[in-house]
Amino acid sequence: MSGRRTYLDYNATQPLRPEARDAMVAALDVFGNASSVHAEGRRARALIDEARESVAALVGAHPGEVVFTSGATEANTWALSAPWTRIALAGTEHDSVRAPAAAIATARGAEVIELPVSGDGRVHLDGVRGGDGTLIALQLANNETGVLQDVVAAGLWATENGARLHTDAVQAPGRIALDFRTLGAATMSLSGHKIGGPKGIGALVIGAGAALDPLFAGGGQELRRRAGTENVAAIAGFGAAARAAFRDLEGAKRLGALRDRLEREVLAVTPEAIVIAAEAPRLPNTSSIALPGASAETLVIKLDLMGLAVSAGAACSSGKVGESHVLAAMGLRSEIAQGAVRVSLGPDTTEDAIAAFVAAWKGICGGTSLAA
Ligand code: PMP
Repeated sequence: MSGRRTYLDYNATQPLRPEARDAMVAALDVFGNASSVHAEGRRARALIDEARESVAALVGAHPGEVVFTSGATEANTWALSAPWTRIALAGTEHDSVRAPAAAIATARGAEVIELPVSGDGRVHLDGVRGGDGTLIALQLANNETGVLQDVVAAGLWATENGARLHTDAVQAPGRIALDFRTLGAATMSLSGHKIGGPKGIGALVIGAGAALDPLFAGGGQELRRRAGTENVAAIAGFGAAARAAFRDLEGAKRLGALRDRLEREVLAVTPEAIVIAAEAPRLPNTSSIALPGASAETLVIKLDLMGLAVSAGAACSSGKVGESHVLAAMGLRSEIAQGAVRVSLGPDTTEDAIAAFVAAWKGICGGTSLAA
């Protein structure tokens, strides 16, 4: 493959930030076991403590509330693992929330309540009964559409009705202001690689009072809440990425303007295209654009051949032919859902990248096919 690539798939993963890379390389030489009391161990412990403070600062949490995990999949699984009798969630949640909920329903007979989703991707709490043993899982921002949920209102509802709220906030940091303290969630999942840190590291933020038994039994790491010798380099990289992501917020307006330009120009080239959830509050970096009747898989492949990286639906579900469960839950007709491409921007995205996307889109969909 030759020529420059244009990467517009930040919601799948963000390129490793130089700061995160440097922190990881430096941490690889800090070989001590963070549980050891000697100087080598204390050096590793210091790196973990620093990263914990950085991640906590990014999301408005207390460092003592941040527990490092192997990623957001583990964090979501953990939050759902308590002995809930009822779990309420929408079909727009990520598979790492939906699958553990389904597994718990089968294994323990917990009642799973499917929350209604309107056509713009917003989730409603209608019909949920509260009470002890009820967990509401409501993501902060959707990875496919960028649609934001009113987690604060859900948190208030949960408090008033004796339920607990878990929020998957993986796609939010650095893109929208995030304050765990005012969110009203008992637990919140984060992922390192979505903010320019390494893959395979994440965190569950556990608010004071939200008791949660460890998922793994073993050593006393992570304040006895997550057994297993810590991945110090990944944690240090996550911490460095969190410090950098803090500064990204200043660029969120610019990102929103770039995304809006992309949507405007795509609609000008292909007026039949549909911007999914265009009117809903959304992340500033995300656009889900459907070309009714088209195959998103084909569009993604053609764009890739032209040097552009985007996704058909979620990265984890592209590669297998089928409809996005998120768009299906929003009630979109299959003809639309199957033609939906996700474009997601990041702090390094330039005007040129948007122009390159629009030119390629025009070439593929706007009449004159450049893809032959
Ligand atoms: N939740 C959401 C909304 C995501 O986008 C992802 C990553 N696709 C995850 C959870 C899982 O995160 P991780 O890759 O860290 O397991």
